[in-house]
Amino acid sequence: MAEKLRNCKGCGKLFMSSGGVFCPACIEKQHQDEQRIVEYVGEHPDSTILDIVKDLEISEAIVRRLIEEGRLLQAGIDYHYPCAKCGAPIVSGQYCDSCAEQLKAAIVAERAKRDAIKPRVGMRYQNYSG
Ligand SMILES: [Zn+2]
Ligand SMILES: [Zn+2]
Repeated sequence: MAEKLRNCKGCGKLFMSSGGVFCPACIEKQHQDEQRIVEYVGEHPDSTILDIVKDLEISEAIVRRLIEEGRLLQAGIDYHYPCAKCGAPIVSGQYCDSCAEQLKAAIVAERAKRDAIKPRVGMRYQNYSG
């Protein structure tokens, strides 16, 4: 693929891209951040994502990406953090399996309720006109 000039998604500077959205400096910084997270969690296995974000002054998105890609596990760190709803230890996403299931069921039920209302309203109008 031909290289072309574009703005870095991280720092906004122009750089020659062959498809990536980050400039070499930002990619290097991301690697360093990832390394720092792995080291930090290795030293503080009980830390929460917020602790990591606060102590290392990095974005939560990077921490979550590392966790979701299983990078901490690959580094030999069995990292867990609490489910946002019930506090059960989880290793990816925002909720534990059972909370995720419940939320999904609630959304489906909500949608079914909305869909069920519409035809009934239509029926009533038909009755009035007929
Ligand atoms: Zn950049
Ligand atoms: Zn939960």
